[in-house]
Amino acid sequence: MSNLGIPQNTIEILQKYNFRMQKKYGQNFLIDTGVLNRIVDAAEITGEDCVLEIGPGIGTMTQYLAERAGAVVAVEIDKNLIPILEDTLSEYENITLINEDILKVDINKIVEEKNGGRPVKVVANLPYYITTPIIMGLFESHVPLESITVMVQKEVADRMQVGPGTKDYGALSLAVQYYARPEMVANVPPNCFIPRPNVGSAVIRLIRYEEPPVQVADEARLFALIRAAFNQRRKTLVNALSNALELGITKEQAAEALEGMALSSTIRGEALTLEQFALLAEKLPGKKGS
Ligand code: SAM
Repeated sequence: MSNLGIPQNTIEILQKYNFRMQKKYGQNFLIDTGVLNRIVDAAEITGEDCVLEIGPGIGTMTQYLAERAGAVVAVEIDKNLIPILEDTLSEYENITLINEDILKVDINKIVEEKNGGRPVKVVANLPYYITTPIIMGLFESHVPLESITVMVQKEVADRMQVGPGTKDYGALSLAVQYYARPEMVANVPPNCFIPRPNVGSAVIRLIRYEEPPVQVADEARLFALIRAAFNQRRKTLVNALSNALELGITKEQAAEALEGMALSSTIRGEALTLEQFALLAEKLPGKKGS
């Protein structure tokens, strides 16, 4: 089978199957061999690795992954792509195709079955409309993984790696940085895809920490605080936290906790580091009744 990273080969396959791209599935297929090599190089894949690919499309990156990995498991939602993938990937014996929605399938079970529960490497050109739920789902459900190397919208890649005091800093930055060390790999312009997306893209690698950089007694509570702080990011942290009824925190309790950390009671959530959010989670009272 010909290399689908070459635009002409991708066009031929799309024509052969009269395949119509579905915008609702975020279908923008890669057609740049340089970018494809860059992604698989950055993911540091060896013959020992089991790779989980999310959204193989017509199998372009899957071909590159299958050349280097011991095994590849590719999860694709669009059933119309399955016969195409069976054709374009017919030469490889180390690929398992799963026709499922990545947000619904039990990834832990797949990793258990395909890699004996050992950590996998996730590599994908993600469907942009569900980037955050995919990444958060992988982390929060504690899927055994070593790293995530993904193409995402440039703006989202920026959000994943910034710290306090920038406009892009938010709940996603803190969640990603709690679980992993982000590393920018490359910026990718729209002309590397068919069809061209109307946003810039970037490849980012998230290297999973063995231990998170901060320790908290209740991880879910930490993320509930962070979400509340950024849901109302223009409000002071005291107001944002006390307005979030599910937290059960009064203004006085929030102000007292901040004072105990030598922070102003008018500070906003966007000024706090991950370490400060962790400390705040420890200082604030737990949920009522818990
Ligand atoms: N990997 C291919 C490439 O690089 O050319 C295609 C990438 S395209 C940006 C995203 C792919 O994810 C599409 O094939 C799309 O059908 C698939 N997809 C979209 N939503 C999905 C979901 N919920 N679960 C699994 N795959 C999904």
